[in-house]
Amino acid sequence: MSVATAPAPSVVPSAALSSNLSADMLPVLRERGQREVFCGLTGIVWLHRKVQDAFFLVVGSRTCAHLLQSAAGVMVFAEPRFATAIIEERDLAGLADANEELDRVVRRLLARRPEIKLLFLVGSCPSEVIKLDLSRAAVRLNAGLGGDVRVLNYSGSGIETTFTQGEDACLAALVPVMPASDVSQLLIVGALPDIVEDQFRRLFAELGIARVASLPPRRAKDLASVGPGTRFLLAQPFLGDTAHALEERGAVHLPAMFPFGAEGTTAWLHAAAEAFGIDEMHFRSVVAPGRERAKRAIARHAERLAGKSIFFMPDSQLEVPLARFLSNELGMELVEVGTPYLHRSHLAADLAALPAGTQLSEGQDVERQLDRVRAARPDLTVCGLGLANPLEREGLSTKWSIELVFSPVHGFEQAGDLAELFARPLVRRDRLAV
Ligand code: SF4
Repeated sequence: MSVATAPAPSVVPSAALSSNLSADMLPVLRERGQREVFCGLTGIVWLHRKVQDAFFLVVGSRTCAHLLQSAAGVMVFAEPRFATAIIEERDLAGLADANEELDRVVRRLLARRPEIKLLFLVGSCPSEVIKLDLSRAAVRLNAGLGGDVRVLNYSGSGIETTFTQGEDACLAALVPVMPASDVSQLLIVGALPDIVEDQFRRLFAELGIARVASLPPRRAKDLASVGPGTRFLLAQPFLGDTAHALEERGAVHLPAMFPFGAEGTTAWLHAAAEAFGIDEMHFRSVVAPGRERAKRAIARHAERLAGKSIFFMPDSQLEVPLARFLSNELGMELVEVGTPYLHRSHLAADLAALPAGTQLSEGQDVERQLDRVRAARPDLTVCGLGLANPLEREGLSTKWSIELVFSPVHGFEQAGDLAELFARPLVRRDRLAV
């Protein structure tokens, strides 16, 4: 089952609140019903590429293995850094000691792959159903491995979660093992493609912020320290648990718009510049070239996108900042902005920049939401893979939300590509119509 559906009881959504200029008062439709989302295992697809000496061992079923293999594709030049320890029927029936079997699988894996320095045991729906305690398994394995490899665990289960929560759970699992330090530093939180991370690091260096670290690191040994001197920027809006764990360790969150487009990226960089006392004129001179390049790249797509209507189904949790970008920087009209979870404080700056009266929805009742899509017939619907084909068949243009998580879309240099991702389905539709 690559698509996790949670048939929770359908509850009549709370009535929309009155529209108001304040972000706190934007109308929110709260829904709890059938969901159509991928599970948190999906995060392994981008996380295993980011942390180059980590291995992700899913403790799950053949279904979990199929999801991973089809989502991550086949790696031709390297052995994959993920696998599934399949829970067989005799494990489920309690006929085998699942802990002993897991230890055996891990020992065999580590003997064959000495380059692994960080091993994540990733829980799934089946491991949760049989109540296999992976946190105890991690403690047991760490004790037996003598410090050569660190074993951590998190859950990627699809029960009541959405696919980007896999990254949040993974990063939150790293926080307790970050070394303690009072050093003054900026921490970028969220798995960005290396090329994007390097662009940001260059900008921070030009600004004069001397010490910059990233979570996750590219290699296990480079795991950043954390403490009261750490100020952190979230690169992704779906990292609520990680942010909370960092705050528990004394780090301070820098609230900002997310770095999408010229405006979002400027605001995100500015939050760090302000926190580190960077002179305002210096800040402007450093960001001006990138900001101008981003604006020019975005402008190439504005003609196609301005005035077009867009509907976001709740899926990636990127919906609010992307809606802000498309509305403010490209002139698109927001029909509805659905998101699985609305983290009001992390999204405050983007919410405040949405047009007055923007219809937000939190949670999902997929049939009701599809009814609203069909009634509105937006120019573009951003949704999960499972919903895209049926909507396309009904003559509606769609964009897969998961593509926005896989693609490099943050920062000045990617702003034009991000706009193009939304323009492309409309170009295709126009070509087909000719
Ligand atoms: S973790 Fe759950 S939802 Fe995800 S593939 Fe496995 S069984 Fe399906």
